[in-house]
Amino acid sequence: MEQQGHVEWENAEFYPGWKGVKARLTPKKLLQQWGKGLSEAQQKEAQYLFLEFGYNVFLSDQLPYNRSIPDTRHARCLQKTYPAQLPSLSVILIFMNEALSIIQRAITSIINRTPPQLLKEIILVDDFSSHGELKARLNKTIKLYNQNYPALLKLIRHTERKGLAQARNTGLGAATADVVAILDAHIEVNVGWAEPILSRIQEDHTVVVSPVFDKIDFNTFKLEKYELATVGFDWKLWCQYDPVPQAWIDAGDVTAPVKSPSIMGILAANRIFLTKIGALDGGMLVYGGENVELSLRVWQCGGKIEILPCSRVAHLERYHKPYAMDLRIPLRRNALRVAESWMDEHKYMVYLAWNMPIKNSGIDYGDISSRKALREKLKCKTFDWYLKTIYPLLKPIPNIVCYGRIKNSLDESVCLDRGPVPGNSPKVKPCSEFSAQSMYYLFSGEFYVGELISKEDIHEQYCLTDSGHGEDPTLELCSQAAQRGQHIYWDFRQGKSIKNKDTARCLEIRKDPSGSYRLVLESCTQQTWKIQHIVRNWGH
Ligand code: UDP
Ligand code: MN
Repeated sequence: MEQQGHVEWENAEFYPGWKGVKARLTPKKLLQQWGKGLSEAQQKEAQYLFLEFGYNVFLSDQLPYNRSIPDTRHARCLQKTYPAQLPSLSVILIFMNEALSIIQRAITSIINRTPPQLLKEIILVDDFSSHGELKARLNKTIKLYNQNYPALLKLIRHTERKGLAQARNTGLGAATADVVAILDAHIEVNVGWAEPILSRIQEDHTVVVSPVFDKIDFNTFKLEKYELATVGFDWKLWCQYDPVPQAWIDAGDVTAPVKSPSIMGILAANRIFLTKIGALDGGMLVYGGENVELSLRVWQCGGKIEILPCSRVAHLERYHKPYAMDLRIPLRRNALRVAESWMDEHKYMVYLAWNMPIKNSGIDYGDISSRKALREKLKCKTFDWYLKTIYPLLKPIPNIVCYGRIKNSLDESVCLDRGPVPGNSPKVKPCSEFSAQSMYYLFSGEFYVGELISKEDIHEQYCLTDSGHGEDPTLELCSQAAQRGQHIYWDFRQGKSIKNKDTARCLEIRKDPSGSYRLVLESCTQQTWKIQHIVRNWGH
């Protein structure tokens, strides 16, 4: 869903898929890749539309609604046969300020690539768009479709912005078919997308499924095939792809459903089952977290989540999102809501990852009593069960004793920072909210620097290291450093020095002639450090 685009980001924060800030458009780059031969006026128009929507609407408006896209399924999917009798399908498309041509291409792909006898309705949910073309023109467009396909399209409009979870719930509430597929409106379904979904849900009505996504490039509208993966998340509850399990590979059937810890967002399910299990959490605001909340609830409360390799949907990855300037705000708020609703004693990991105090975070994540009641009613299992059984890749780090930004008493306006990425030179920089300044001190003495890594075997955490020579501290991959016997263990207590256990050198700061600070390793001069948050006392 979220991959880094071709264009550089203004935002210095390194965060996979981070697109929160409406980045400054560099029209030259846009037009270099596409748009040669346009007149000046057309270029202006294209730039304006790009800025407005976060993708190349100028081009979208020229592409046919029924354009063909490459069939990205594995060859063996084409040999699969499905039962003659399958459940009926409601497709729900939610949107907020989407280009009309994009919505029409989505509708057209659904009509053309879904067996007509199974497609009961397409429900459009407008989450209070403001764009003019989505008013009378959209109404008229729907009328035209319904002249050819009687009563196929329905449009529901929110009269205030309710956010993505409630938009999906609105669609679910209006749906009448056996199965619902809840999609973004900037998609094109690929050939044969529906049959695997309908037959799998017919076999087992407790499975919530996701198709495999391919990427529609926001600039060229070309399709990029994505490999099959499962969907997981990190401790910020931000979704990411994980490898498919070895057991699935060993089983040798590339068309078989793959169990997945989570979904990206888009999903299909038995309508009644999804409603009974609590739909989406309507207490989620704007964007994010609702996919993990649903996933935990489905697994913990008796359902399953699967990715269906033979069902493919192309999804437009926008350059920026039109509904929030800083996505971190809803992402963090919604993540805490998931943590408090479902994650029991492991919830503190989410606070750690977001660098929030565990108590009195100051974040209002809303009323979760209905989620708690649901847990009771459905007799749901614990998050610990989920971690051990469904998502062992996600590792709690119980050894962290304190965390947050760390400041030297010489100057409290600057903080330790992981420095440029890529790179392994930590720096001292003006304190900021970015995760580059998050530190995690472990009972065993390591200092993790920067974004908390949730899965040791996929990514790696960087550790503050004394190489033993020179003055500069470095960052090393913790596991490698430990193997090589590098000096990654430190003595630290709140308001005391940071002293390497092997070399006995202290981490200190020193003012350059230029007036800025530099991190150095030297004989201890009694400089002291303070870290933001304490998890528990550690007395060594
Ligand atoms: N959305 C919405 N209301 C909001 C925010 C998002 O209806 O306040 C919709 C949005 O239009 C899209 C879906 O939620 O159809 C998912 O959002 P988006 O596509 O921006 O996220 P991504 O797919 O990039 O994760
Ligand atoms: Mn989307």
